[in-house]
Amino acid sequence: MTEVTISRRNALLGSAATLGASAAGGLIGLGAAEAKAPLSKLQAPQFYRFPIGEFQATIVSDGPLPLGEPSTSMKGITKDEIAKALSDNFLPLDSVVLEQNLIVLNTGSRLALFDSGMGTSKMFGDTTGKLLANLRLAGINPASIDDVICSHAHIDHTGGLADAKGRRFFPNATIHLAKSDYDFWTDEKKLSDANSKAFVAHARQNLLPYKGRIKFIEDGKDVIPGVQAMAVPGHTVGHTIFIIKSGAKSLVYTADITHHQILLTEKPRTEFAYDTDPKAAVVSRLKVFDMIASQKLPMLAYHFPWPGYGHLAKQGDGYRYYAEPMEFVKIPPKKA
Ligand SMILES: [Zn+2]
Repeated sequence: MTEVTISRRNALLGSAATLGASAAGGLIGLGAAEAKAPLSKLQAPQFYRFPIGEFQATIVSDGPLPLGEPSTSMKGITKDEIAKALSDNFLPLDSVVLEQNLIVLNTGSRLALFDSGMGTSKMFGDTTGKLLANLRLAGINPASIDDVICSHAHIDHTGGLADAKGRRFFPNATIHLAKSDYDFWTDEKKLSDANSKAFVAHARQNLLPYKGRIKFIEDGKDVIPGVQAMAVPGHTVGHTIFIIKSGAKSLVYTADITHHQILLTEKPRTEFAYDTDPKAAVVSRLKVFDMIASQKLPMLAYHFPWPGYGHLAKQGDGYRYYAEPMEFVKIPPKKA
């Protein structure tokens, strides 16, 4: 058993609680009965809702994606720097775990899903591929999704569109994706390249069943009313983020402009092993971070700790992420 040091203050609080219980009468046995309760594996359902002006966002998880030993994915930063940054933030040193936070946006006229998770791929283990189950928990029918807006064609973003038999999980949806990414990741010739083979095979499994239902995204244009595309190449050739706007409110869906709230945010010049062009990715990252921090735009980061909704502020030569507190009950404004 691990030894735990209890301060004198906590010990005193403990005895005060016992005294309180006996004073209440008949409650003395309660603590003992609770201690015998079996450990529960039940967790909170993995969806979270908040408004963006007149729109409603529901964040749904596809499950955590463990990348393994950090120095295999973080480049241009020493192992010592990685270890210090992680331990200073009480994070484990043996594996970087990325979340997968997907937005379902209800604009009142369209129901749009942003990216689609890993789907049937088990490349990163079996903690991923939870999107459909979590959509169900959130009361969202995949058949009612009108649009799937994809930031890029990597395995963890377009991976959840169709199964291995070519059946579409979102039978009525239009898929939106940059043409350059579509061409790059569905390119048959890359199937013979050991490095990209698995990514290309999975992109083809997921995108080809939507032939005729794919609309190519144009930089600066609205993908659907209220959702503007912004090309930020580097992570992939056609990597795109989206600015969601309703009335005076907005949210920037930052996709893979950063994968980690510390290693690629407080140290934004770190390069990520899965970037197609890591130098261009750093340039795009700094441009987006500056936009978000200087205009105080709320962000939704696909790979940040659940649910990935928060803010960025400049800190030294990097940026610091501030998670937005989750709000489960709307507190009415105070009357004057
Ligand atoms: Zn990703």
